[in-house]
Amino acid sequence: MGGLAPPRGRLKGVDAIRVRFAPSPTGELHIGNARTALFCWLFARSRQGRFILRIEDTDPERNREDGETAVQEALAWLGMDWDEGPDRGGPFEPYRQSERLALYHEHGRRLLAGGQAYPCFCSPRELARRRAQAGEKGRAPGYDRRCRDLTVEERQSLRERGLPHALRLKSPLSGQTVVSDLVRGEVRFLHGELDDFILVRSDGRPTYNFACVVDDHLMRISHVIRGEEHLSNTPRQSLLYQALEYPLPEFAHIPMILAPDRSKLSKRHGATSVQQYRDQGYLPEALANYLALLGWSYPGGREVFSLEEAARCFSLDRISPSASVYDDRKIEWLNGHYLRELPPGEVARRAMPFMRAEGYVVDENRMRDLVAATQDRVKLLAELPDALSYYFRDDFDCDEAGFQKHLARPGAADLLERGCEVLAGLAENEFTLEGTERAYRDLAGRLGIRAAELIHPTRLALTGRTVGPGLFTIMVLLGRQETLARLRKWAERLRVTPA
Ligand code: GLU
Repeated sequence: MGGLAPPRGRLKGVDAIRVRFAPSPTGELHIGNARTALFCWLFARSRQGRFILRIEDTDPERNREDGETAVQEALAWLGMDWDEGPDRGGPFEPYRQSERLALYHEHGRRLLAGGQAYPCFCSPRELARRRAQAGEKGRAPGYDRRCRDLTVEERQSLRERGLPHALRLKSPLSGQTVVSDLVRGEVRFLHGELDDFILVRSDGRPTYNFACVVDDHLMRISHVIRGEEHLSNTPRQSLLYQALEYPLPEFAHIPMILAPDRSKLSKRHGATSVQQYRDQGYLPEALANYLALLGWSYPGGREVFSLEEAARCFSLDRISPSASVYDDRKIEWLNGHYLRELPPGEVARRAMPFMRAEGYVVDENRMRDLVAATQDRVKLLAELPDALSYYFRDDFDCDEAGFQKHLARPGAADLLERGCEVLAGLAENEFTLEGTERAYRDLAGRLGIRAAELIHPTRLALTGRTVGPGLFTIMVLLGRQETLARLRKWAERLRVTPA
């Protein structure tokens, strides 16, 4: 039983490295697919190769109208660009499989003429019936090859009866195919386990395996990098390359992403698509960085890097063959890191849609100042509207424990009033970080108390919270008038309902 080893193709010239990402336009881009795209992109860029976007849209039932746009938007948002694709054309266009049907049919005819493929007239109903029967008798459920050895006359007569037919590959009955994978090494598949799979369905649509091989060859793909769930398709595709006498590309199957409990990552574990991460306020830099770490490691174990940096040192041999486990704390940590590192103006610009969605009207300059005081306290853009809410409204609920501790006690109203007085004594141009702080510290000195005893109730009166940016920063950002108004309001409120 010798392994089949078709010749390996070597493409020469600047375009030697050609990698494709081939999603089906079924909706939002799943993060598993985004990670595949990222590894393809990183590999292409690391080797001065081409990154190609191909849309696998031959299944109208699964296609979504905006699926292609959703994929493109998600890739661009994450910072990946492509050199060839449906939107930008290229030397091997078209890049949508639905526009390449003639090519698949031509290849189908070639295989049929060469005897490597045959027409199968079994109807789906008949196939299902025989599959069930095989199951009952404990036989393998695959296609029983009934049409494989029909005579020319039998085929002719079935055709004449107008029976629709699919095209199947005549795959070897014995032996094995050895897939040589750049991540997993050699993986063996017995031919006995592969049936005569369909190449072209009776309605003329190609199957994934067939269209994929035809396109990967015609588009001169040098490296097929894809998720591990496709590994079992690879021996079938190898047989097809052999039947077509096309050289094999290199294969790299990247490990699964598992949920923290090591089950399959699914909706119940939280966000699963790039769009959902975006809508939750993750930054593309953080998500891309995180995805790169899911199965790949930066030399030296570095954890924070840009895509450009990763592209400079990416190599397939640093991809781990074992599954990667998703870790929400790490992605949040990374997001917090990028949020702190970005200039406040940039965070402000990106946070604007989140502010608008919560009904806060703010211009970008003001937002930049608010963000500068708060960006190191949040992990997600979507946390900013709440973190900044007290700059926009004074009808906030006061933190209950803080209220009990700092406001609901004798003397609190007095303290707020005294604070208010010294702040009111400052002119508008003295109402600065230094000015307000000096006024408060001097007052504490005069009263013979610690500054904290003034600061805590004031913070609660201004923000309703016990923690946040520096109190004097908050005062300056609220402005003199608003600061005084809130202190007066709380002092009055405490007098009306004394503790
Ligand atoms: N359309 C397939 C998918 O989205 C492509 C698999 C491949 O890269 O060959 O999973």
